[in-house]
Formats: sequence, structure tokens, C-alpha cells
Amino acid sequence: MNLGALKDNQTAVIIGGGPGGTMCGIALRKLAREQGKSINIILFDGKATVGETHYNQCVGVLSPPIDEILESQGVPFPHHLVQRQIEAYTLHGERRHIRLTEAGEISFATRRVQFDTYMLEQARAHGVDVRASRVTDLEFLPNRVNVYAESSKVHADVVFGAFGLDPGTTTILAEATSYRPPRFLVSMVTKIHPPAQIMAQWSNDIHAFLPRNPRIEFGAITPKGNHITVNLAGEAVTSADMEAFFAYPPVRRILHFADPKHPENPHDFTFYRGRFPISVASHFYGDRYVCVGDAAGLVRAFKGKGVTSACQTAIWAAETVMTEGISREAFARHYRRACREILQDVPYGKVMRQLAIVGSRLGLMDLLIALAAENNILQHALFDAVSAHRTYRDITADMLSVREIGQLLRDFAALSRQAARGKPRQTR
Ligand SMILES: Cc1cc2nc3c(=O)[nH]c(=O)nc-3n(C[C@H](O)[C@H](O)[C@H](O)COP(=O)(O)OP(=O)(O)OC[C@H]3O[C@@H](n4cnc5c(N)ncnc54)[C@H](O)[C@@H]3O)c2cc1C
Repeated sequence: MNLGALKDNQTAVIIGGGPGGTMCGIALRKLAREQGKSINIILFDGKATVGETHYNQCVGVLSPPIDEILESQGVPFPHHLVQRQIEAYTLHGERRHIRLTEAGEISFATRRVQFDTYMLEQARAHGVDVRASRVTDLEFLPNRVNVYAESSKVHADVVFGAFGLDPGTTTILAEATSYRPPRFLVSMVTKIHPPAQIMAQWSNDIHAFLPRNPRIEFGAITPKGNHITVNLAGEAVTSADMEAFFAYPPVRRILHFADPKHPENPHDFTFYRGRFPISVASHFYGDRYVCVGDAAGLVRAFKGKGVTSACQTAIWAAETVMTEGISREAFARHYRRACREILQDVPYGKVMRQLAIVGSRLGLMDLLIALAAENNILQHALFDAVSAHRTYRDITADMLSVREIGQLLRDFAALSRQAARGKPRQTR
């Protein structure tokens, strides 16, 4: 049983043609070329030939450093697909809001199906054998993995799990190995096409909400080209929660022109469901397999940058396979180590998530926003948390190291007492 780095004529099979899967293929091909090896790289995705006709629940906001990551692998950043540059986040409480921005931190709003089509074209152009077919079963043997797809059967030396949170495929891998998929939040997402004169004046901000409603963990309104996307997430959100979200006064203030019961555009207010991972998968690697992106739960805890993380983890997994080996030990030594910033942030993300849940349920968002309006350090921390710009670990360390933390907590306590007594709110 040879579980060393991939050698000439060996085969890597990638399950999934999202950002994680396509980037696995492109990074493998680049490393093989650099090492002068001839490796067979086969990528399976049932959606690979349907182009832009399928629906993807992802909002399609590509966050930094996605352009650097793509270009590091010889993939030009697709500026032609950018519908808007996102410059700021506006965080809403029930009565207050605050605009959070950071010089140079720009994200790009795209149509996700167009981005995926572009990445599949790039994978093909880099020499990846893209097959428009779903993998239906896996069989792990000591000397290979049998990959059964709708159209063919392939002998693989190593398998990349880049299938996101697809329930069928997570089950297939879990039945064949010790892999257990991440826990996840359910999301609902829909589009609205505002009247042209409103859309022309729409700012380039993402509006973020942490409502008091215990069923909704967070919601967002994102501007795209000729429409806006509305999404929310919670443990078990349904279309009824989406309707409640549209009726939430801070959301109504922004979407005052839209009536979910009488949409002006027949495509508006069609709801789709999706999933966000909120934990790391168990055994996300083992002998002859490695998972990347959502399948591994290797995303920023609690909030986003999912596409960026999928691409980044794909490159690390490909590097491990081409330089260290395809055994559980090789992945533990190299891949796990490369992912350590994401992994170390998980406990901090869990605490942040619980604080956000408790804070919003107790109606403390307005107080936090009032305090942040007066305090630059808190404002930066909120930007970093909402935009996923820095790790929660670094944000926590920064907050705990500032001399003003005592004053900040005293201000917060004073504001809470005033709010409880119904007095006007004043900070220092
Ligand atoms: C509502 C919502 C909004 C989001 N918005 C954003 C955002 O704005 N920005 C951002 O960065 N992230 C966002 N995300 C997260 C982002 O979508 C994911 O983190 C990202 O898509 C993960 O990429 P991936 O390649 O790991 O998986 P995926 O993108 O899920 O790709 C998996 C692929 O595998 C294929 N597949 C599955 N099973 C099989 C099989 N058996 N055989 C062959 N192929 C298979 C699927 O067809 C799919 O193409 C959002 C998520 C949700 C739910």
C-alpha cells in the first residue's frame, strides 16, 4: 500500500465542481506541471454542462483575498463577472444602525452560477477532465478507491471531497469512511427586482440584521446588478420565517417598495433553501481521501467567506497530495496544519455566535450600535466580525488588550440600565 505523494500516471478524482472542486483540479495540475509529473485528474459534477441555467443559493459575494488566491494558481480574477463592489456593511438594530467600513476592504458581488461556470471553464482549460455526472458510490480498498458515477467507474488513488453539504454525497462518504459531515444552519434566500429608479440609487452596502426573533439567527440584504438578494439563516428556518423577516420593521424600512404578497416581477419572492456549515466535519481526511470547503466545514465560524475558504483549502489539500502523501498521517501533518487558523478560530466563533444570539434575543443590538458609534475600536471589531475580515481570535485579543475595555463595559452596563428604565441613551 503506497500512500506517498502522487506519482506519474496515478489518478485523483474530485467529487464536486463548485469553487472547492475546480480549485483542487487547477492546483493539482499546476503542481504536477511544476514537478514534471503526468497525473490523471478527473472531476465529477452533474451540473458541469448545464452552465448558468441551474440555481445556486449562494449570494455570490467574493471576499478578499479571493483575487490573490485565484491568480496564485494562474486563474485571472473574473472582473467581467462583477456586478458591484461591496464597500461597507450596515449593521441594523431595531431602531439604530451603523455603517461599518474599512479602507481597501472591498468584496465583489457576482452571480454565483456565472462564477462556477467560469471556474469549470478554467479547470478544463488547465487540463482537468471534467465529467458531467454525479458520483453515486465509493468503495475504499487498500490499493485504490473505486468511484462509481452515473456514467462510468473510475479507479482513484485519492479522492477529493468537494461536494459541499449535499446530503446524498455526505452520506456516501460517511458510509465508506469515518467521515461525519458538519452540523449546519438552514438558510432561505430570494431575489427582488426593485423599480429601476430605486435600484439606480441603491448603495453598495450589505445590510446585516440580527433580529430578536428566536428562529432567525441572521439575515442580510445584498445589492447585485439589477436586483437585490435577501437571505436569512437559522436552525430550522422556513418560508414562514422569511415572511416574518420581510415584515420586520428594520427590513421594511429598506424594502418599503416591495410587497411579498403582490410581487411586481414574477421571479421575485421565490424562496430557495440552502445550508451553511457551522462545525468542522469529523475525520475530514483519512487514507486516500480529503475534504475541502463546505464538505469539511472549513469555513469561517458563524459567518461567510465560504467561496474564499473553499478555494484556499483546496489548494492546501492539493499541495499535501502532491508533496506529502495521501495517507491520514500526511493529511494530519500537512493539510491540518495549513488549516490551523480556521480550526483554531472555531471555539472563538462558537462563543461569538452564542453572544450574538443572546444579545439579539435580549434586544441589546441597539445598545451595541450606540456604543460602537462612539468607540472606534468597537467599530473596527464589528466590521471585522461582520465582514469576516479577521479571525474571531484576533478580534477577541484586540478587544481584551485595549485599555478602554473596562470603560467600554461600564458604558454598556450604564446604557443597559438606562434602556431598562426607558431613559434616553447617552454614552460618555
Ligand atoms: C444562502 C447562502 C448564501 C451564501 N452566500 C455566500 C457569499 O455571498 N459568499 C461566499 O463566499 N459564500 C457564501 N455562501 C457559502 C458558499 O456558498 C459555500 O461556502 C461555497 O459554495 C462552498 O464551496 P464548495 O466548493 O465547498 O461547495 P459547493 O459550492 O456546495 O459545491 C459542491 C458541488 O458538488 C457537487 N456535488 C455534490 N454531490 C455530488 C456528487 N455526488 N457527484 C458530483 N458532484 C456532486 C454539487 O453539484 C456542487 O456543484 C453562502 C451559502 C448560503 C447557503
